[in-house]
Amino acid sequence: MSLRLVQQRFDLHLRDPWAISGTSAAGGGKRFHPVVFVQLEDSLGRRGIGEASPSSQYQEDVHSVSRFLSVVDASRLSFDHLVESAAYLDSIRPSSPPARCALDLALLDGAARAVGVPVHQFLGLGFTEGRHVTSFSLGIDTPEVMARKAAAAVAGGMPLLKVKVGVEADRENLSALMAAAPGVPIRVDANAAWGTREEALSHIEWLAGTGRVELVEQPMPPALPDADWLWLKERSPLPLIGDELFQTAADAPRCARCVHGVNVKLVKTGGLTGGLQALRAARELGLKTMLGCMIESSLLITAAAHLADLADYLDLDGNLLIDNDPAVGIQCDRGVLGLDRVVESAGLRVTLCGLDGGVFPANVPA
Ligand SMILES: [Mg+2]
Repeated sequence: MSLRLVQQRFDLHLRDPWAISGTSAAGGGKRFHPVVFVQLEDSLGRRGIGEASPSSQYQEDVHSVSRFLSVVDASRLSFDHLVESAAYLDSIRPSSPPARCALDLALLDGAARAVGVPVHQFLGLGFTEGRHVTSFSLGIDTPEVMARKAAAAVAGGMPLLKVKVGVEADRENLSALMAAAPGVPIRVDANAAWGTREEALSHIEWLAGTGRVELVEQPMPPALPDADWLWLKERSPLPLIGDELFQTAADAPRCARCVHGVNVKLVKTGGLTGGLQALRAARELGLKTMLGCMIESSLLITAAAHLADLADYLDLDGNLLIDNDPAVGIQCDRGVLGLDRVVESAGLRVTLCGLDGGVFPANVPA
């Protein structure tokens, strides 16, 4: 039974301006992030929903997502034939991992709903309540603003912070933030900011010296040769996690040589199917696994959480950074992610209700 596809652009509004290394100066940062929601529906009225959150870090935007979605022949997709549907989508060039992600989510949502089970169960996985704690991310800003945001996050019950670095004022920023959030463990993400292995090591040694930092994500550019990564990995006093270094399962062997763990994101892997493959490939090679996100609604965050039992670290907070979330899904209670109080019982366990102009009013290109 073939499907009908509709897509709608939606601008997620950030609670605070968001800046990471290389994107904008402290105090600046972007104020909204456009995403695309999709819905697949068959002639029986069965539906599945998905979300694409394209990132300029990977040369994607809502236009590249929309272009991909516009050439999809939805009559070749089916909730009852996921393997064939995926093979068809994989044949479309150029590909768009965020658009592929939206469709993969929608197909799995519809397929799992059709048999009345949550997506994690449909994929043969569990979801352990009470165990999955997400970090809360702080973008680059002035020391005062970063300290204020850290104190507010901790006062709100967040037990773990992830801090963006990669500017000259990093040490000042981190010192202010640590003083404002005493005792809270901190994960650091450099977004490829440190250009040489020596520079990276000197920053990492300082971070380790604070006694507060648990791990460092993407210290150097992914294009640096393996020899530099091996040099750093041998000397680093803190675990190194590859993010820009890791797109899909195919990158697991290189990452197993170069770093201690990888950050898996659904928008990089093209959805839950690729995310599951990536997590399994990484774990088989002995890598630690993090499940991460972009700026996203609760739709994508809830989708990722269905894989949480395969992750050592969670950074699923993109929905907490926005103030116009159109989706209702996973609950976050003092950083602990849970599905036990979610009303929707099957599929992704997400309700999409806050789209401007109603839910998918027409087939509007992004
Ligand atoms: Mg990262």
